[in-house]
Amino acid sequence: MHVFTRLIIALWLLPLFASAQTVVQQLRCENRQNPIGLDSPKPRLSWQLTSPKRSVRQVAYEIRVSTAKGTVWNSGKIMSDSSVHISYAGKPLQSGQRYEWQVRVWDNSSPTPLAWSAPAFWHTGLFTTAEWTANWIGPVAEDTTNRPSPRFRREFSVRKPIRSAVAHITAHGMYHARINGERVGEAFLTPGWTSYKKRLQYQTYDVTNLLKTGSNAIGITLGSGWYRGFIGFSGQKNFYGKDIALLCQLAITYTDGTTETINSDNTWQSSLNGPIRSSEIYNGETYDARNEQTGWDKPGYAEAKTWAGVSVQNYPKNTLIATINEPITKHETFKPVSIFRTPKGELVADFGQNLVGWVVVRATGKAGDTITLSHAEVLDKAGNFYTENLRAAKCENRYILKGDAAGEKFEPHFSWQGFRYVKINGFSGDLKPDNLLAVTLYSDMAPTGRFTCSNALVNQLQKNIQWGQRGNFLDVPTDCPQRDERLGWTGDAQAFSRTAAFNFGVNAFFDKWLQDVAADQDSLGSVPFVVPNVLGKNASGSTGWADVATIAPWTMYLAYGDRRLLGQQYNSMKAWVNYMKNAAKTDEQGNPLWATGFHFGDWLFYRPADDNDGRSAVTDKYLIAQCFFAHSTQLVINAATVLGKTDDVAVYTALLNRVKTAFRNEYLTANGRLVSSTQTAYVLALQFDMLSESQRQPTAERLAENIKSYGNHLTTGFLGTPYLCHVLSRFGQGSVAYKLLLQETYPSWLYPVKMGATTIWERWDGIKPDSTFQTPGMNSYNHYAYGAIGDWLYRVVAGLDTDEKQPGYKHLIIKPQIGAGLTSACADLLTNYGPARSGWAMENGKLTLDVEVPANTTATVYVPALTAAAIQESGKPITGGTGAEGVAVTGSDGGYVVLRVGSGRYQFVVN
Ligand code: BGC
Repeated sequence: MHVFTRLIIALWLLPLFASAQTVVQQLRCENRQNPIGLDSPKPRLSWQLTSPKRSVRQVAYEIRVSTAKGTVWNSGKIMSDSSVHISYAGKPLQSGQRYEWQVRVWDNSSPTPLAWSAPAFWHTGLFTTAEWTANWIGPVAEDTTNRPSPRFRREFSVRKPIRSAVAHITAHGMYHARINGERVGEAFLTPGWTSYKKRLQYQTYDVTNLLKTGSNAIGITLGSGWYRGFIGFSGQKNFYGKDIALLCQLAITYTDGTTETINSDNTWQSSLNGPIRSSEIYNGETYDARNEQTGWDKPGYAEAKTWAGVSVQNYPKNTLIATINEPITKHETFKPVSIFRTPKGELVADFGQNLVGWVVVRATGKAGDTITLSHAEVLDKAGNFYTENLRAAKCENRYILKGDAAGEKFEPHFSWQGFRYVKINGFSGDLKPDNLLAVTLYSDMAPTGRFTCSNALVNQLQKNIQWGQRGNFLDVPTDCPQRDERLGWTGDAQAFSRTAAFNFGVNAFFDKWLQDVAADQDSLGSVPFVVPNVLGKNASGSTGWADVATIAPWTMYLAYGDRRLLGQQYNSMKAWVNYMKNAAKTDEQGNPLWATGFHFGDWLFYRPADDNDGRSAVTDKYLIAQCFFAHSTQLVINAATVLGKTDDVAVYTALLNRVKTAFRNEYLTANGRLVSSTQTAYVLALQFDMLSESQRQPTAERLAENIKSYGNHLTTGFLGTPYLCHVLSRFGQGSVAYKLLLQETYPSWLYPVKMGATTIWERWDGIKPDSTFQTPGMNSYNHYAYGAIGDWLYRVVAGLDTDEKQPGYKHLIIKPQIGAGLTSACADLLTNYGPARSGWAMENGKLTLDVEVPANTTATVYVPALTAAAIQESGKPITGGTGAEGVAVTGSDGGYVVLRVGSGRYQFVVN
């Protein structure tokens, strides 16, 4: 059974075995469990209540926080039902300190508080630049052709017993740190990717257990990484600088209270003779085991006398920031499902899953034997290894053996690959499945969502969506993981953000990345195509891409109730809308029409090969731009409302009305036809409320007719796809949405599934029905954008949603829209309050609806039924005096009976 399935089942059963008491658990600080190295002066604390009872609400809470020296905050009893994102409000926090905290809660069942929670902690990083006493160091000279990875080391002695030791590390490039022969931490590809010139993350590690009394050694290897390696598709390198450098500050606190700091400085040594002879993100790594320098990361390394010194550098430190998102760590592993020779005679292993990470190789051979691993996502029609779609990225790891008879093990350090197949050259002896292990790498986001239904192909689609997210949430949301790109494409990220927030916990992930969005926005408010922006200052301002600046913050607010993030991004949101307003031309009535500039448009929309009668679904780019202009303006209004900025609400509401008027004047005919008669045009106009009330229904019918005219196929690209089924469901065309979902022929979501996809493809026909490929210049098999349908599966098919007025699932809306073709569907979500569920099944005319509402939340449940009398809950009628506990009927609405329920589990049955 999958780990997550087990987790969900365990959480589902947990309260049955727990005491009959409500308990406080799952303590989180800044969305993470016991985080280390935070530089937020007011970190936010969250907890969950778990209870076997129904209708449990928090009435009050008390938080206490202490250090070894005593209490720094006791909130006292606060009358509030808030249990998510409560800001610390005690004495000013100190750098490099451990803060322990506990919370207790009063619930609605008793005037006495529940027991204090178990303690949790957070550890602060460095709050000021002045606290960085370490120096930037680099190698004294470099081989600028191959750029082998420099190594740095320092020995030091520890003479007193240690209470704690913490290391803060970052680099220009990527680093891999070791102390006394052990790896420091479990993070890979550190320090991660940000807009380095403005924001450079450092990581903080608790290294207490790695140190010992007596001699110690720290050793750190650097790779070029995003900082100075090849980045972008034009062959550019050294984007942030050509220097490679290390900054390391190791703070030791002894049990007698004294402290000592081991800083990177001129006492360190360096060597260019280590085993990593070259490493590039796109091209792969060359590792020569003959250069391993055994013992280099331990004290007493005799060869140290041959090592060079270091050059101390004056690089800035005022850009340093603590890491707020989850690090990239290793996750699932895969053994080859088969190893075979292709028709061309090449030796290939298939891991059965398109994934992102690398292959660990175990081999035995002679010193100097070279094993080369090439990577590919697909085999071609003939069954041969296909790499053309990787474009300029070589994706090749080379391992040179040292000849250890006991066997050798290799993996890359500063490169990763997106692949399902590897081609192996130079392996001596018989290649066995045990020689290869594919290891996935991605940001360590908590798995939070699960969607299943009665259709096996849709279940595979959901798996593919989740695999697309795993592989492309690698510190930044990337478009793809394999070719010479792997960039933070803003359009892809906005399209997928809501789906992403179901599948995994991405609050911290987007919090970090959105700060780079704001940092890379230009002075006019334009937002780059990619963030971090490595494409240059003119690569910005495309509609539907730049709108990530408004869409993603609002999504985070909906999914997690993250008000601080909304406040943090507010100026960025506004600046983007102001950019559009300033770029627009106004008519005599002052209505702004934004019809200038470059736009990607409805990227990768449906386009038949031999399009003689014009069936390509081309949508006017400026029509799209006006729709997103309105949408972003609406989101600024929403944010301003939440943040209490009433002046802005008025200003942007007036702007929004004029934007919509300009849209109708320009793009809508008197008879209600849009100038582009495409699905995307109708979808965006309807989704963003561009039309008057009376125009909407006829427009939805045109959309449904358009879909029928394509034989119930979608024709949308990146921008229309996320909203297509939502619009159909909203305007009474739910049955058409279900037909699109269940469509198995191209173009559709299930077509790639039928073709064997294990991830979401960039194009609807990445592999064509005749098994040939789309053009190699733009044909990734791991691109999450079209996976945006996931949001509709969770929110509409299963019917699990949050109330916008009480976001982050403080109040749930459970409203499944049952459609022909499925007999059951179920969504599970670990919300900030605890597990939630909406799952329905139809059997012999009987509908069962399973609902779980986390403690300290409430829900409105829409049960598909004609009358309340037809509904039973756990065997009891929901009406009348002896009815189901915690359930109140509040009315009916278009085929649903509407109920208000408190927390707990419910099973509704409708006959
Ligand atoms: C990327 C996309 C991106 C697009 C913009 C492509 O190369 O892979 O996903 O959004 O360019 O046009």
